[in-house]
Amino acid sequence: MVTRFAPSPTGRLHIGHGWSALLAMDFARVRGGTLRLRIEDIDGTRSRPEHVAGIMEDLRWLGIAWDGEIMFQSARLGDYDAALGRLKRMGLLYPCFCTRADIQAQWAASASAPHGPEGPVYPGSCRGLAETERSQRIAAGEPHAWRIDMGRAVERAGTLHWDAASLHSDRTRAVEARPLLAGDVVLARKDAPASYHLSCTLDDAAMGVSHVLRGDDLLGASDIHRLIQALLDLPSPTYIHHPLLVGPDGRRLAKRDGSIALADLRAQGADPRQLADDLRQARFPIGISLGSA
Ligand code: GLU
Repeated sequence: MVTRFAPSPTGRLHIGHGWSALLAMDFARVRGGTLRLRIEDIDGTRSRPEHVAGIMEDLRWLGIAWDGEIMFQSARLGDYDAALGRLKRMGLLYPCFCTRADIQAQWAASASAPHGPEGPVYPGSCRGLAETERSQRIAAGEPHAWRIDMGRAVERAGTLHWDAASLHSDRTRAVEARPLLAGDVVLARKDAPASYHLSCTLDDAAMGVSHVLRGDDLLGASDIHRLIQALLDLPSPTYIHHPLLVGPDGRRLAKRDGSIALADLRAQGADPRQLADDLRQARFPIGISLGSA
């Protein structure tokens, strides 16, 4: 089996990342499998090269050893582009010219914007644009993202399921994928050649990942990834979602609010073996606990 840890280099790793990486490494080691590392570095506005070195340092300090070469998403743009081309030719993508403000105004104007796992769903205003208008605006250089026409994609793919397992049992159960709930998600961003959903799905397949271990904030993402796999004839791994660590306020840890960074613990002289041991036994620093799954 092959699993992976896939951080985005938008900051240093916090203790929740460390815990997730340890779970993935142990999961692989116990089963004689491998742990790969992938750096999700195509978010041009937030990714920073200096964080890549920091992340590797944080992981090594905590005793996380990955196998093989590191995969960098920034080296895979050609593959993302090819997949986008394929989906476009299938008639499943459309250009979206809306700005964030446009979308917010549309939500504000509608009495009840449907909510998906990632918040209110895109109202679909660019879905109905005529082909001539689309090509004119693209030719004029108007910035645009590419969204999937979810209704059409689901109609084409039919009913789908993904395999879910847990940290404690390899027995899988089939979960029905409900990608429609997320609406017409973006597959290529205005400011990045591929969205998380597209790049992650393609990379997991390219790495031969058999088990994806990640936080349960991404449960809804697995529905979307399953759909993309079906559309592009990719294998579907087993998904294992673990709860997130939360802070004293009950909110999930995030890089931005100064959640305990591994680098800070290291600077304070923490013993990494002890810390890894504690994390494995779900003994977290004061104020941090497991959120409900
Ligand atoms: N780069 C994503 C994150 O840091 C990875 C999510 C995943 O494991 O699929 O949240």
